[in-house]
Amino acid sequence: MDFSQQDIKFIPGVGPKRADMLAKELNIRTVDDLLHHYPYKYVDRSRFYYLHEITEDMPYIQVRGKILRFEQAGEGRNQRLTALFTDGHSSIELVWFKGIRFIRDKYKVNTEYVIFGKPTRFNGHYNIAHPEIEDLNAFSSSGTSGLQPFYNTTEKMKNSYMNSKALQKIIFSVVQNISRSDWPESLPEHVLKRYALLNLKESLLNIHFPQNAQVLHAARQRLKFEELFYIQLSILQQTSWRNQHVQGFVFAHIGHYFNTFYEKYLPFELTNAQKRVLREIRSDVGSGKQMNRLLQGDVGSGKTLVALMSMLMAVDNGYQAAMMAPTEILATQHYESLSRMLGDLGVEIALLKGSTRPKDREVLHEKLRDGRLHILIGTHALIEETVQFHNLGLIIVDEQHRFGVEQRARLWKKNDRPPHVLVMTATPIPRTLAMTLYGDLSVSVIDELPPGRKPVQTYHYFENKRQALNGFIAKQIRQGRQVYVVYPLIQESEKMDLRNLEEGYQYMLETFPQYKISMVHGKMKPAEKEWQMQKFVSGETQIMVATTVIEVGVNVPNASVMIIENAERFGLSQLHQLRGRVGRGAEQSYCILLTKVKLTTETRKRMEIMVRTNDGFEISEADLQLRGPGDLDGTQQSGLPFDLKIADLGKDGKMLEIARQTAMDILENDPTLQNEENRMLAAQLRKMRNKTFNWSAIS
Ligand code: ADP
Ligand code: MG
Repeated sequence: MDFSQQDIKFIPGVGPKRADMLAKELNIRTVDDLLHHYPYKYVDRSRFYYLHEITEDMPYIQVRGKILRFEQAGEGRNQRLTALFTDGHSSIELVWFKGIRFIRDKYKVNTEYVIFGKPTRFNGHYNIAHPEIEDLNAFSSSGTSGLQPFYNTTEKMKNSYMNSKALQKIIFSVVQNISRSDWPESLPEHVLKRYALLNLKESLLNIHFPQNAQVLHAARQRLKFEELFYIQLSILQQTSWRNQHVQGFVFAHIGHYFNTFYEKYLPFELTNAQKRVLREIRSDVGSGKQMNRLLQGDVGSGKTLVALMSMLMAVDNGYQAAMMAPTEILATQHYESLSRMLGDLGVEIALLKGSTRPKDREVLHEKLRDGRLHILIGTHALIEETVQFHNLGLIIVDEQHRFGVEQRARLWKKNDRPPHVLVMTATPIPRTLAMTLYGDLSVSVIDELPPGRKPVQTYHYFENKRQALNGFIAKQIRQGRQVYVVYPLIQESEKMDLRNLEEGYQYMLETFPQYKISMVHGKMKPAEKEWQMQKFVSGETQIMVATTVIEVGVNVPNASVMIIENAERFGLSQLHQLRGRVGRGAEQSYCILLTKVKLTTETRKRMEIMVRTNDGFEISEADLQLRGPGDLDGTQQSGLPFDLKIADLGKDGKMLEIARQTAMDILENDPTLQNEENRMLAAQLRKMRNKTFNWSAIS
């Protein structure tokens, strides 16, 4: 039998109980899984020091020598065991406060040990508390000498003594085993050759117990490549399958509605970027293939108009279109601005909300079914089962990052044939991430703002500058502007955050008795929220105190100041989203980031980036660098559809592109992976799809 697929419970030192724990905690079931649980760091244990070499700034030290004697002191909780340890020249104290009996039983005087730990200085002498001790003989035969691997484990595992060291031992015995035998390769020869990659066996041996830093590097490169390559291969293969088998509606011509709108109703000239994107969409929907396009454009870049004109293409060809927004406020705003723009063009447009009354809903459903209604705007409500279209040809999803993968999948079921899908987002997803997440989506970018916009000026203030800030707020309001004040609201400390918000509201009321203030947060009833929002939109209130519910899409061009309280608690892309709420009118706008004085380096960097640039792409790249892809605001909610074990999208963008290109080349010559040299690829893909990923969910 294939050793790589063997159940880990048969490995010496594992057994059924530990196997169970590994399966539950880390999803490790087979030898192969175990070997793909890579170390997260290595510590150089190749060098032995002499005790006289110790200095205070050493993170740890490793010494070879013997214990001369033990000494026990104190009672109960204050118990303490010390051992005098010598390297043959000088000596040091080893100290334990816990596990004393165990240590006393296990280690003997006058036996050769290797000790490893952090030296600390106490009363002019160095000692090492709770050092790692290993028998000298065991040391050289357990994979510790050299670069020692450290493995992630869980709290539960640690409690049952399945710590990094225990995993190291288990993996070491497996590695010993495979180093003596064959190990199946998982990349075809021609790929290995083309990029001079290390073979799988050597890579696995060296990722766990590296012979030296160079081989470790080569092993990492190979394993990263493999990981990225198979993800790309899978996504691309799926795309090509769909392109061949799924037919799209053809919007063959541009007609009356589009042309009339363009010539008579458009209030301004389209930007070049808008024109380009419309051409891209036009070409997709006319191609006979189903469109799956991601439209990225910074806040205020004019995505809504592109959406509207794309929907007119559908209507001109006898199809219906729908547009889905993440909140009722936003759906309402879209409905109002689109209706206004369409004027008396004769396009039938309606709004469907969760709160739409049953009677109105009935009428709406009927018009949808018989095709009288051309365009439907709504929230999630519009993908409910009960909503049936006559012939839905295009769906537009606004601010995609609020929609889960599941909802996207549901869209597909609205028709026999899937409608064209245009996903719009202001969270600029870095290219590397977009490629991985949506390898099968085409991407359009609006990289230009409508003319005449003044970039928002951003400042970082510490909280103690509040007085000065208040003066600034008053001045802006006197000039007729409006002001947002945003508080973080984060699940885990929701109660406290809500109190912060309410205190903030009280503070504003007291500080600005002459002005009217709206307050909005997610816990409010929708009607109340809407009313508060509406008062701000209409200019009746001058200040809006809110949580991030206002983050997405709200358009109040007269608002020129965005104050973000506790800005240190927001991620970069969220800060950027919030800032995008201002700078929508002709006036100069400002964004003020308020933080406490003491900040971590990372937070300070975040603030600096915000102050330095308004460029959403630069910001999201920086975000990816600082935090890693799992934490990106946008992806956190939709969830990456796979785990990356070793590749890092923030750092391995270049390799991702190479992996993608390689996958494309292979599929181009051999779309079904039938050729002898590619058989292995098909087998690997099957294995991978069976395992964890819900590939059908990414569409
Ligand atoms: P977003 O991309 O953030 O959704 P919107 O579509 O809401 O941006 O557009 C922001 C504002 O810019 C709206 O008031 C819209 O009418 C205006 N706008 C859109 N396109 C243009 C254009 N080509 N020229 C001038 N203003 C435009
Ligand atoms: Mg928008």
